[in-house]
Amino acid sequence: MPCDTNTHCQDERVSQHHKASGHGPVKDDEYVIFVVFDSNVQIGKKLSERDFSTKKIAKGDLSLARKAYTTINDAQECVIQPALDRGQKVSGASVALTRSLRSIKAPIEGLTPVKYARGVCILDRVENDDHEGHAALRSCRDEGALTPKQRGKLRALIAADLAEKFDVLQAIADVFTLSAANIPSIVATPGR
Ligand SMILES: [Zn+2]
Repeated sequence: MPCDTNTHCQDERVSQHHKASGHGPVKDDEYVIFVVFDSNVQIGKKLSERDFSTKKIAKGDLSLARKAYTTINDAQECVIQPALDRGQKVSGASVALTRSLRSIKAPIEGLTPVKYARGVCILDRVENDDHEGHAALRSCRDEGALTPKQRGKLRALIAADLAEKFDVLQAIADVFTLSAANIPSIVATPGR
């Protein structure tokens, strides 16, 4: 179902937990963590749109961790170690406010004047192997009616906006130990 309004879409309002017994839908004022793998970006520098897999976003497979509900041990066990086992390199992690991710707008193709719809949804999706603080980022748009060229353009715009919102790559330990109240201070990370 497309999300052409400013309100939360149906999947954001109803828990996507496999047992429907989790922490409930992700709230706008929650911080979510994106663990970054195989990036060319150094700690302290801004993320690039290349750090966001548009294929994963389209499939709703881009994994996030809800900061309030994810310990560094959860991350180590369920996010970092499985990636290392697959041969990936852990580059660091970044944090964003759910509200700011949900505010990303994407143009609806073919309308004059141009109209915008929401870009991504943040879902409390937890499946069997996921930790309880797992969340998924998914393209909010129904891409079915788009041509491959329009789809590519839309996805690139969303990836660039996500890089802006997640901002600076940080060390894993810093992200998972920071309290929410300290997060604004991360913009002072050296090297930026
Ligand atoms: Zn949605």
